Amino acid sequence: MVNLMSTPSSKISLLSVENYDRLKRRQESNHKAVWNLLDAVKDPEIPPLSIWDLGVLQDITQQQAVITVTITPTYSGCPAMQVIAEDITTVLQRAGYSNFRIATRLSPAWTTDWLSESARNRLRQYGVTPPQEEDAIFCPQCSSTEVRLISEFGSTACKALYQCKTCQEPFDYFKRI
Ligand SMILES: [Zn+2]
Repeated sequence: MVNLMSTPSSKISLLSVENYDRLKRRQESNHKAVWNLLDAVKDPEIPPLSIWDLGVLQDITQQQAVITVTITPTYSGCPAMQVIAEDITTVLQRAGYSNFRIATRLSPAWTTDWLSESARNRLRQYGVTPPQEEDAIFCPQCSSTEVRLISEFGSTACKALYQCKTCQEPFDYFKRI
């Protein structure tokens, strides 16, 4: 982890090294328009999060006339990845791009640590508890940490179903990997 702020307060902004590098690639890219276009591609299982928010969109490069969009899958066998690749194709074609390819980068492997702070906040607003240490899992409605696991699998394989013991509401928890 890279500490971007030297404030001594307990609320220190942390960014994983991978995310820091990714942000730099985007900021220094000659293809900012393509990065911006692809902000429209959302995770089909978690619509408030784009592939940028998730850390799936890794790089956009060009060789000769071909633009390469590099993505890292969230986890192997995630059914959303196929949809994401199709959505990237659709968005780029609609914007008039025809000479591009999608490359998959498997290493370093994706982890939920790549989710940005704003992505975590949006997840919570959507009613899904963002990835946490196991003993810090909280209810997205009332913030209580008095929760119980109902099922290892929630609405999708990457989520678990919990119930809050305080307000009784069931909720999805985005599993930490
Ligand atoms: Zn609650």
